[in-house]
Amino acid sequence: QSAASFLPSRAPGAAAEIQSVEPLLRIRDVSKKFGSLEVLKSINVDVSPGELVFLIGPSGSGKSTLLRCCNRLEEATSGSIRFDGSEVLDPKLDVNALRRRIGMVFQSFNLYPHMTALSNVTLALRKVLGKSGPESKTIAMAALERVGLAHKASAYPAELSGGQQQRVAIARGLALEPKMMLFDEPTSALDPELVGSVLATMRSMREAGMTMLVVSHEMRFAREAADRVVFMEGGVVVEQGPPAQIFGPDAQPRTRAFVSNED
Ligand code: ADP
Ligand code: MG
Repeated sequence: QSAASFLPSRAPGAAAEIQSVEPLLRIRDVSKKFGSLEVLKSINVDVSPGELVFLIGPSGSGKSTLLRCCNRLEEATSGSIRFDGSEVLDPKLDVNALRRRIGMVFQSFNLYPHMTALSNVTLALRKVLGKSGPESKTIAMAALERVGLAHKASAYPAELSGGQQQRVAIARGLALEPKMMLFDEPTSALDPELVGSVLATMRSMREAGMTMLVVSHEMRFAREAADRVVFMEGGVVVEQGPPAQIFGPDAQPRTRAFVSNED
């Protein structure tokens, strides 16, 4: 069984039909306070199966906190987050099971420096899914193949570029066969010439049908590749819509101001 086999193929033009399908992730009226500081204020966002949704906004607007609430790295103060049929905010939810189904990739790749690319991926499979050595190796190789790094399986992180290290981290997430992946500024730590390979990997994941919610400042990529863009500022969703709306002349003034500054 290959790690890629869980990814349904994506028919061209499927995005329009996807809109009528039940969302995989459904965020409703989610608020989050740190003490008296309310950093998320009644957030509503849906992500449908197969969608690539971009979350953009200035620093401090609550983007990371929202992603972290989705896999319970932070506890939302109120509201509802339904993911794949269960309530994420249910205190009785099995948080480890949740995190197996909703993967997360961070700005810092957090690979073990003393382990090869392959071992970084197989370790997750053995520890998280309890896979045997031989099985975890087969799945990990397929995942490295998906990110175009099968030929670097025996390289150590220090022998890889930052972009390659981030793709190993993505392979580690993909190998666990999540239903959805969250990305928090996956290219922000990379030199500009290395950003493209990570974006290309995300694009091919989208084409393979992976559902993704991505915090990023890569506006050109958002414009070209996103199904929908959510603009947050000051803990609220100011506007959300297809890229043509968010990057177009009829976007709301605050959206336009932010987008033109980033470009
Ligand atoms: P973004 O990712 O959009 O830059 P964050 O979600 O990281 O924004 O932060 C939103 C706000 O919440 C900021 O004002 C930040 O200082 C605050 N914040 C984030 N994490 C914590 C925390 N653990 N304790 C207190 N305040 C926090
Ligand atoms: Mg952040």
